[in-house]
Amino acid sequence: MSAPPSTTPLPPLARPLKELRGVGTERQTQLARLGLFTVEDLLLHRPRRYEDRRHFRSIAELQLDEPATTRGTIVALGLKRFRAGQRSVFEIILDDGTARLHCRWWNLPFMQNYFAAGDEVFVFGKPNSLKPRTIDHPETEVIEGGEESFIHINRIAPVYPLTEGLPQRWVRSMIWRTLEQFESHVAEPWPELFAALATKTPAAIPFPPRANAIRMIHFPEALADIELARRRLALDEFVDLQREIQLRRKKFESKASGLPCGGDNRWMKPFLSRLGFQLTPAQTRVLRELRHDLSGAHPMRRLLQGDVGSGKTIVAACSALMTLESGYNVALMAPTEILAEQHFQTFREWFEPLGVTVHLQTGSRKTGADKSQTPLLAPPAASSATLIIGTHALVETGFAFDRLGLVIIDEQHKFGVTQREQLVRKGKYPHLLVMTATPIPRTLGLTLYGELDVSVIDELPKGRGQIKTFVRAADKLPKVWAFIREQLAEGRQAYVVYPRVEETSGGLKAVTKEFANLQTVLASYQVGLLHGRLKSADKEKVMAGFRANTVQVLLATPLIEVGVDVPNATIMLIENAEQFGLAQLHQLRGRIGRGTHNSFCILVAAAKNKEAQQRLKVLEETNDGFRIAEADLKLRGPGELLGQQQSGLPRFRFGNLADDWELIKLARELAAQTLSR
Ligand code: ADP
Ligand code: MG
Repeated sequence: MSAPPSTTPLPPLARPLKELRGVGTERQTQLARLGLFTVEDLLLHRPRRYEDRRHFRSIAELQLDEPATTRGTIVALGLKRFRAGQRSVFEIILDDGTARLHCRWWNLPFMQNYFAAGDEVFVFGKPNSLKPRTIDHPETEVIEGGEESFIHINRIAPVYPLTEGLPQRWVRSMIWRTLEQFESHVAEPWPELFAALATKTPAAIPFPPRANAIRMIHFPEALADIELARRRLALDEFVDLQREIQLRRKKFESKASGLPCGGDNRWMKPFLSRLGFQLTPAQTRVLRELRHDLSGAHPMRRLLQGDVGSGKTIVAACSALMTLESGYNVALMAPTEILAEQHFQTFREWFEPLGVTVHLQTGSRKTGADKSQTPLLAPPAASSATLIIGTHALVETGFAFDRLGLVIIDEQHKFGVTQREQLVRKGKYPHLLVMTATPIPRTLGLTLYGELDVSVIDELPKGRGQIKTFVRAADKLPKVWAFIREQLAEGRQAYVVYPRVEETSGGLKAVTKEFANLQTVLASYQVGLLHGRLKSADKEKVMAGFRANTVQVLLATPLIEVGVDVPNATIMLIENAEQFGLAQLHQLRGRIGRGTHNSFCILVAAAKNKEAQQRLKVLEETNDGFRIAEADLKLRGPGELLGQQQSGLPRFRFGNLADDWELIKLARELAAQTLSR
């Protein structure tokens, strides 16, 4: 069990918890389950909530459905079993002199071990009845007298996340004692910076010293202390992360030099002149930034953000051409086969007249010479410049690519951070361009993509039709179908999106089930069906039909969310829209409004679900992807917004990615200062 004695003792805060008095093997295991191993972990164990035990309500003052803290003495208690002993309810009755309160626990018979008649108890919960006054499954804590009772009563008491067998009181006392013993060892990480900060922003909310902040987060003297302390501890977390990001970048730049990929315009010129439209000023500006990076001293690491439909593909094409002109090959990675296929067709049209070879390699399809299992080695003839397009299969098949100059990742948010890293390691530090239409809220941009430079396409090409968005309750569907028929009659095309492939119990519409229905409702038009379980060849056939307008209506799962580009499609009908995040709906909406005709996005939510309809109104009000993403981040948190794939997201104990923009910005500056010292 015990580690061999080391010559240099551990710094106090790094000491394992089992060395503390009162922590035996059992407690140690319980604390470990909470992720607490060292003194520092314990000091940073953040309370889940606080209970103001200086003021509480008398039992008589409790209100129906209002969470509150109260206290009283147990005057009666008992366990009742029923259904042949399979079910039970344990009840205690408290009296505080003003009234009585019943607290009940269903099917938790062991609760009876924790209480005795005459005990004084704190209760926190929501009364679910006032006749008699009852709280089911409250949080409770028996008040004990004795020396340490001041830790728990007559103060704002922290309430911690627990694990089975670990009492609230024990944790609170343990943290109190640990603070007493170790507070003086809490170091100020950047004392000079911190001093400067205090003088620089005298009017702003102050940041308490770290040691004070740690005490305040556990035992605040006023409720306002809690946020002051949180801000300070969050700032420290953000500074750590920003330092790590900036260090990584510096290290990378010190060892990797950039391949010369700026190009000489010999393909770019004819490409642009044949394109049929002018680049927008935003596209032109971004291209200048890219050319600068591609001929720079270090490999490019750039994130290109541009709302759906802003024209990122052309920009990708131009940067690919610069690289190809310079004699290097390019890899373009897309998150779905449909999108990879679409890019393959577009880029082939664009590049083959220039003599550039374009390959496609997805999980199910390979073009070019090599269709065997062996990794594709491109270019087949070293002399010809090659663009290879693929899905994540490009990474997984372990392809080897000679003279890889540039890696472009489309719809970056669909890939995990690790996948991104894997792909880039394929070459000898090729340039990297990642593109995303998820307008990443600023806070996430600085944390998740902190090591990337950012370019933004902040305008749409001119001459686009308007997109109007409507939120409708499901009972208005007949009218919606009538409207869609009108639009189809004018020659437009439509997307219809349902959340599921197959019917489930939840009452969510599924494409396979609704397919027949839709063929009846839209009888005179061709309806195509698209979902992830189709074979690749079938998906391609349907998409090809939709592109060629032999299919007018595409019934699909959210699979079409990314990248699909059919300008004549002007209708987007999304049913069960409440199932989707706002950012994802915005992406789906981005499939329309790509041509000159006006477009219509209709979001249908369950008639009963007023809350969902309210949330969806954000989309009625704005087309600004950044505003939508920020709203989504606040409503659903970063994991949801970015998708499960984004495992690279750092975990914060105190920092809040939705709200701490100012802190993150400050942390970035501070981190840069610490590194320049
Ligand atoms: P996204 O940024 O969502 O990837 P795309 O690159 O698919 O957008 O572009 C959307 C559509 O706009 C495409 O049909 C593309 O050809 C067109 N487009 C791009 N740039 C321009 C431009 N400068 N002028 C007119 N149309 C453009
Ligand atoms: Mg795109």
